[in-house]
Amino acid sequence: LSPVPSDLEISRAQTPKAVDVLAKEIGLLADEIEIYGRSKAKVRLSLLERLKDQADGKYVLVAGITPTPLGEGKSTVTVGLVQALTAHLNINSFACLRQPSQGPTFGVKGGAAGGGYAQVIPMEEFNLHLTGDIHAITAANNLLAAAIDTRILHENTQTDKALYNRLVPLVNGVREFSSIQLARLKKLGINKTDPSTLTEEEMSKFARLNIEPSTITWQRVLDTNDRFLRKMTIGQAHTEKGYSRYYFFSTSVTNEISTWNLTDMKERRGRMVVASDKNGQPVTAEDLGVTGALTVLMKDAIKPNLMQTLEGTPVFVHAGPFANIAHGNSSVLADKIALKLVGEEGFVVTEAGFGADIGMEKFFNIKCRASGLVPNVVVLVATVRALKMHGGGPSVTAGVPLKKEYTEENIQLVADGCCNLQKQIQIAQLFGVPVVVALNVFKTDTRAEIDLVCELAKRAGAFDAVPCYHWSVGGKGSIDLARAVREAAGQGSRFRFLYDLQLPIVEKIRTIAQAVYGAKDIELSPEAQSKIDRYTQQGFGNLPICMAKTHLSLSHQPDKKGVPRDFILPISDVRASIGAGFIYPLVGTMSTMPGLPTRPCFYDIDLDTETEQVKGLF
Ligand code: ADP
Repeated sequence: LSPVPSDLEISRAQTPKAVDVLAKEIGLLADEIEIYGRSKAKVRLSLLERLKDQADGKYVLVAGITPTPLGEGKSTVTVGLVQALTAHLNINSFACLRQPSQGPTFGVKGGAAGGGYAQVIPMEEFNLHLTGDIHAITAANNLLAAAIDTRILHENTQTDKALYNRLVPLVNGVREFSSIQLARLKKLGINKTDPSTLTEEEMSKFARLNIEPSTITWQRVLDTNDRFLRKMTIGQAHTEKGYSRYYFFSTSVTNEISTWNLTDMKERRGRMVVASDKNGQPVTAEDLGVTGALTVLMKDAIKPNLMQTLEGTPVFVHAGPFANIAHGNSSVLADKIALKLVGEEGFVVTEAGFGADIGMEKFFNIKCRASGLVPNVVVLVATVRALKMHGGGPSVTAGVPLKKEYTEENIQLVADGCCNLQKQIQIAQLFGVPVVVALNVFKTDTRAEIDLVCELAKRAGAFDAVPCYHWSVGGKGSIDLARAVREAAGQGSRFRFLYDLQLPIVEKIRTIAQAVYGAKDIELSPEAQSKIDRYTQQGFGNLPICMAKTHLSLSHQPDKKGVPRDFILPISDVRASIGAGFIYPLVGTMSTMPGLPTRPCFYDIDLDTETEQVKGLF
């Protein structure tokens, strides 16, 4: 339709096929899905075993140039591309997307189901709650946080004997260790299984974790952008006996448990380090005896969610980490299952958040390292509006109408801004994967502007650069993109990682800062340096790096557009997600709890109580 209706109107005008019909079409057996409502299902992991001998399809990553705060259409391109591949070129394909968190949905950006005629439907269900995975992650995370503070209180207020007797209670007159406790005994080198045979010294060693409160890195989380939880004091009630401490919350989608479904939660859960003890040794979730309970809370969240595009093609929605604070990619499990389901000739299109400098870099260095999967093509999404911003156009703010530089032809701004596109192409080339630039066309873009971007992209080394129109006409508007991707996939990928894991932590950070962001050097705060020393000494120095950096610039300063030069990247703090398997440095003033703007999206969101329809999501 012209003009193109709102995302929500388009989504609602199409009735999705029943999810069991979709599941059958893509070759799933009836007992491999668990249906949630009419149009969503979870997919059982047993599928991977059944399809283990099936060759993988081609693996395509969608990344982008440095975006405006409005988003440049990566999800929309991901959906448009699979619609073009499947519905128009008759090639099996799957889109793998992240689940949006409620922070952006009710805050600045709105939903993330794609847009226009390239969306995942029903978009309300995609954007709100889905099948409850983020709630499960929040519950599991906060159970562990509660376990840490409670344990410190109890250890500080009870004798060794009382503590031991409570941790290993008498049941029908007999004390028995649980399996988790037996594992802890083994770790401590106490080879006993009968609780009554422990010496007093062993009992004390077993019962006391001796957590040093100042080293606790595990935080409580919430799926709301609530800036007032950035710094606070917890434990102020008299019942907590003075064990209060400074505290800060993070958002749910940045936490470590949300990355469990990267691969396999069993192998990761035991490794999660929450603090150090008074001797500087790491204390794990397993030491707190809580990992079984966490696994129970996460047992359904670990399974990918099956949905569909507007044109009825399959989509997995799984995991939703931010790309600026966390690793910004959907789960490895979803990608792996999709790669089997599409077959050798098929395509899986997966999206990495924000600009290629953060989402894509983490996709390659963290996600591909964890999965062993080799990507065939990078699709780099650009828009004329973001390029004009990089060329010196006025700032772009959510909720404020775009200035005339963005709505009228301005060749000079586009030409000047293409430096950011060229730099992001070069970043992708560092990893040896062919790049296809997808210019996501807006109705105000002119022919001359479109041609210029495609020309400059090819000159910068892109395998191809094509305009795409899926937002306004659906999959048929991205057939050229689909053809270019198919051709690029035939080129063969010479994929390589950017850094060797054996390099010291500081060198890995410096490599990313210089080779990817274009920094002159890095500068570590004393706190960052001491954390690096601690993690190295604890044996975690050989993990990959997950930078927490603004997405609005290649540098640490959001207002520096284009390709900033000669800057020193400040590393203010360094944290570790040992279970997830990475070290994450915080760049500049980066916070792990975003805030709400003056006029958040929630102003527009309402429920029509007569029809029970959601209004105002976009
Ligand atoms: P990203 O994934 O890069 O953050 P999205 O795909 O979520 O971006 O798109 C952001 C918003 O822009 C969505 O509301 C979408 O409907 C809108 N949008 C995307 N492409 C176009 C386009 N070509 N024309 C108009 N609006 C678009």
